[in-house]
Amino acid sequence: PVRVRFCPSPTGNPHVGLVRTALFNWAFARHHKGTLVFRIEDTDAARDSEESYTQLLDSMRWLGLDWDEGPEVGGPHAPYRQSQRMDIYADVARRLQEAGHAYRCYCTTEELDTRREAARAAGRPSGYDGKCRELSAEQIAAYEAEGRTPIVRFRMPDRPITFTDLVRGELTFSPENVTDYGILRANGAPLYTLVNPVDDALMGITHVLRGEDLLSSTPRQIALYAALAEIGVGGGTVPQFGHLPYVMGEGNKKLSKRDPQSSLNLYRERGFLPEGLLNYLSLLGWSLAEDRDIFTMDEMVAAFDIEDVNANPARFDLKKCEHINAEHLRRLDPKAFIEACGPWLKAPFAPWRPEAFDQAAFEAIAPHAQTRLTVLSDITDNVDFLFLDEPVEDEASWNKAMKEGSDALLRTARAKLVDAEWHAEALKSAVLAAGEEHGLKLGKAQAPVRVAITGRTVGLPLFESLEVLGRERTLARIDAALA
Ligand code: GLU
Repeated sequence: PVRVRFCPSPTGNPHVGLVRTALFNWAFARHHKGTLVFRIEDTDAARDSEESYTQLLDSMRWLGLDWDEGPEVGGPHAPYRQSQRMDIYADVARRLQEAGHAYRCYCTTEELDTRREAARAAGRPSGYDGKCRELSAEQIAAYEAEGRTPIVRFRMPDRPITFTDLVRGELTFSPENVTDYGILRANGAPLYTLVNPVDDALMGITHVLRGEDLLSSTPRQIALYAALAEIGVGGGTVPQFGHLPYVMGEGNKKLSKRDPQSSLNLYRERGFLPEGLLNYLSLLGWSLAEDRDIFTMDEMVAAFDIEDVNANPARFDLKKCEHINAEHLRRLDPKAFIEACGPWLKAPFAPWRPEAFDQAAFEAIAPHAQTRLTVLSDITDNVDFLFLDEPVEDEASWNKAMKEGSDALLRTARAKLVDAEWHAEALKSAVLAAGEEHGLKLGKAQAPVRVAITGRTVGLPLFESLEVLGRERTLARIDAALA
């Protein structure tokens, strides 16, 4: 049975690349009716934060990416926070050393740097040169007497490592390029290089799906797995690896955590639907079918497999992301749309007095918003004219629409609206007729009316808006514009 893991480090805010990794693991687990393990890799006390941990969980919940084992859920391999598993790592590190798979390295950073530079200058590979691999007891004693504190290094086998990446096919790494690497710091703290494969082994992970940036650690981890199997840590099976393509941002550079576009919170605050965002992120390296950009998570789960992931870098395209979200908004059940708008109709987003909000008026206008919004936060500006005592005063709109002659037009329109039947069709005829008297087409005639009513030149369909606003308030706003 498939067992995959999503194992972020709780540093900073979640970003879209991380969400893509979570999504692909989740979809893979669900497709194969397997298990998604959610593990928190918080062994770096200097960088990890509790706030970031809380945000990770909250983000996963918001996205609807549920996990089968992990924080708040528990499971047979608890605890799932590495900071609570330190004894396990210390024990494994000790056993690896006893079995000769790891050794103490006394080289100082300066010594390593000097030798690395020399190797580079001579055109040789610049990884660790194995100096401390076979220290004698006397050498060790001498280093200790000098007061040096060793790190612990894993001993890589002196042969190439080959594996079949589920995305990239067969890959081979030669021993010169994958040299002995640190697994414990000098203060005894375990490194990612140790804790990640140890937990994958102990938790019975069958598939490791993660970003391409981690490709170079895979041969090291495969070697470590073999050693772990030998000393009896885990079930002895090496997981299969699939490395997800890079996500490129502006200017064809890798999308970085620091890119404002990459912060998940931004999408949440703008009112993306989780399904819309996930639909877009699924396209970063995968597709359902050539002619199908819009689909549900159920459809993704039914179709997803890791072999279909493309190895080429994917380009993050905000416009496309917005477009896909808009399509998901259109597809919502009207009631669900109304409900989803909820947060943006309240403080701090709503600029109107809370008691001015009128649910019935909102529900009447909502269908027109549902076909036009890109993100939910757009709702506020689109309906504020209904709940504000006076329309917003957008000066640019005002200057654009209120030209010579608009007063005359507004007066004629007002006269016709006084006794028009109050429904969109009739209101349109009234403004059309008013325009004709001044030699104006409908578009030109309705612009000043729109600005007088809503304060803006763009918005929801005007006559439907007037219908919901009502005769009294419509006339009052025209009067105010003429005053
Ligand atoms: N904690 C690691 C990270 O966030 C996990 C990498 C992996 O999936 O192996 O980069």
